[in-house]
Amino acid sequence: MAKSGSKYRNESSPNRSLDYFVSAWVRRCGASSESGTAFRAGKPFSKPMNVVLLLSGGTDSVTLLYRFLQGKRRRIHALAFDYGQTHQAELRAARHHCARAGVPITICEMPTELFRGSALTGSDIEPKGEATIVPNRNAVFIMAAAALAMQIGYTAVAIGCNRDDAETYPDCRPQFIEAMQEAIRLASGGKINLFAPFLDVPKTYIVTELKQYGVDVESTVSCYRGEVPGCGCCGACIARDRAISYASQW
Ligand SMILES: [Zn+2]
Repeated sequence: MAKSGSKYRNESSPNRSLDYFVSAWVRRCGASSESGTAFRAGKPFSKPMNVVLLLSGGTDSVTLLYRFLQGKRRRIHALAFDYGQTHQAELRAARHHCARAGVPITICEMPTELFRGSALTGSDIEPKGEATIVPNRNAVFIMAAAALAMQIGYTAVAIGCNRDDAETYPDCRPQFIEAMQEAIRLASGGKINLFAPFLDVPKTYIVTELKQYGVDVESTVSCYRGEVPGCGCCGACIARDRAISYASQW
């Protein structure tokens, strides 16, 4: 039984639909269908939406993959990046889940010169906190996904940024995502929308949702050291273990 005092309890019911979260996001941003803002394009859920999903192989993006698979007549194309990260375990997990789900995946090799200096790309720093920031990585990835979406005629890009990420990573915060949505809308002549349906959602919810899809959280790789099921002491493992622990109390 859920703990009534949990701060997460009332924020995210695992039974709520993707449309619910998108609507909540639009409401939170103060946009409406008449607002003329980027969120006006929040209509795509009234028709089939084909989406390029940024898939790292970690818990958040894999959960988003399975959530999108619940939609009818929705096509998904996953996009992952080999950008000089210190391990390939996440990419293996991304390939595994795409194969399991029957979703095509493109793994794009990026120039590693762009992303040096982070604990995730080989710098000899403990992979915790701000040391794990890869500067501006999400801006590059989102724009690349938008380019792919335009190329293949898809109408949306999705990313698994969540509320817990926002504490450390500037390129996971609502203001950033909103700015990217506007940029993509302008760049595509209004044809492409950006969705981050976990933006207001804590990781506790995400691990719970993944379980509901019958997917073992340990089949995803969030560990910054690439260890499976996880080293237990890097920033990502600590966050995921804490989320699993909270979720088990529901
Ligand atoms: Zn770890």
